[in-house]
Amino acid sequence: MANDGEYCFNHCNGYCCTKYTVLITTEDIKRILENTPLKPTQFLTLYYVNEEILKLFPKITLASEDIVLGLRQRPDGSCIFYLKELGLCGIHLYKPMVCRTYPFTLNDKGQLIRLENICPGEWYPKNIEDLKDQIRQAWYEMEINKKKIEMWNKKNSDLGFNDLIKFILKDI
Ligand code: SF4
Ligand code: SF4
Repeated sequence: MANDGEYCFNHCNGYCCTKYTVLITTEDIKRILENTPLKPTQFLTLYYVNEEILKLFPKITLASEDIVLGLRQRPDGSCIFYLKELGLCGIHLYKPMVCRTYPFTLNDKGQLIRLENICPGEWYPKNIEDLKDQIRQAWYEMEINKKKIEMWNKKNSDLGFNDLIKFILKDI
């Protein structure tokens, strides 16, 4: 569900929040833990890597297994934060960057483009410049994510989940 949630609220029942697995970065996790009372196990889960995932996210070696981190899902596949009755995101202010920017990205000319046509209409957010800033921020945080995970994998790959969370909360 996009950051400018008005269109999503009025025209969609949170399709992307119910159909997709949401993988997240170290910086998304840090932001949620620093700004909410949530414990990591309440919203995070581990996913095993495959080729598709590795095109977008670096693998984390945790207790000698290769994984990525993502949001937990309910048994029906919906995101743990999705408020079905209201059609809203329960963590709107701190939602992962991928949710803030989806389904948009920037082309090499810096123009806003749609990644895929899964929304019920061809909409654009009201504040396009704000969305462009969010996309650039998301890319920046992907780079920090990559660096942090490289550091973790080099030194700590035999350690476990709690150590990983402590590491994620540090600034590099
Ligand atoms: S599928 Fe599109 S319109 Fe529906 S919630 Fe997701 S971003 Fe919003
Ligand atoms: S965090 Fe919010 S916007 Fe992202 S998938 Fe979950 S409910 Fe949807």
